[in-house]
Amino acid sequence: MLKGQVAIVTGASRGIGAAIAEKLASMGANIAVVYAGNEAKAQGVCEKITAQYGVTAKAYKCDVSEFEECKETVNQVKADFGTVNILVNNAGITKDGLLAMMKEDAFDSVIATNLKGAFNMIRHCTGIFIRNKGGRIVNISSVSGMIGNAGQTNYSASKAGIIGLTKSVARELASRGITCNAVAPGFVATDMTKDLGPAGEELMKSIPLGRLGTPEDIAGAVAFLVTADYITGEVLKVDGGIAM
Ligand code: NAP
Repeated sequence: MLKGQVAIVTGASRGIGAAIAEKLASMGANIAVVYAGNEAKAQGVCEKITAQYGVTAKAYKCDVSEFEECKETVNQVKADFGTVNILVNNAGITKDGLLAMMKEDAFDSVIATNLKGAFNMIRHCTGIFIRNKGGRIVNISSVSGMIGNAGQTNYSASKAGIIGLTKSVARELASRGITCNAVAPGFVATDMTKDLGPAGEELMKSIPLGRLGTPEDIAGAVAFLVTADYITGEVLKVDGGIAM
């Protein structure tokens, strides 16, 4: 279904991003696996999807919060693969804490990675998409950006920002055949959520479907949006019913 297409997936060395990379590869796409520092895991994802699906996959170390690094990475992906058709902005971090005690850096770094990182990558892929007369962008937001979450003012601001970014990009680039959508996961079992502690028990009770999401749940939604021709500016919640 995506045979011959080229997808950049940021934060694809583990968790949700690795599942997205694998899903798009299973549909035939060649994958640029972007990671921050975990080279062994990124290489592992490349080896797995190459062996399993016979596509090409290559790892790129890139801090998405850095404008110039993103430019170099997108240029390198284009040089290696010939083009870019799909961009999934999944890289993200949390630095949770109560507002009254939150350090300035905890706010700035979360916005820089989660929100500016998506802008940086979109900014550098847009010229390629325009020349191709088409492209698919999927940004990973969060239900925290829709309904808020105590202890996550920085994170929920970044994820709400992703929704505004998604809708403006969708409006601006629709006439060029480029769609831009967001997926808003609830709580997904990854490294990011492994230390929920006692709050985890309460959390489970708040999920109508009674379980945490899996990375594959999110990857399925990304695959749907990547293949949808007539959906843009949408925010698809994949949250077991938390934010209904
Ligand atoms: P994770 O397991 O912590 O993985 C984070 C990924 O992002 C890793 O691949 C990491 O690379 C990469 N990354 C972090 N900072 C980066 C940077 N500055 N530049 C490039 N890559 C960077 O996270 P996850 O749970 O899979 O979350 C993936 C996305 O889903 C995030 O945007 C997150 O906010 C969102 N989300 C997650 C949940 C959840 O419950 N897990 C819920 C809602 C939304 P390295 O491996 O190299 O460090």
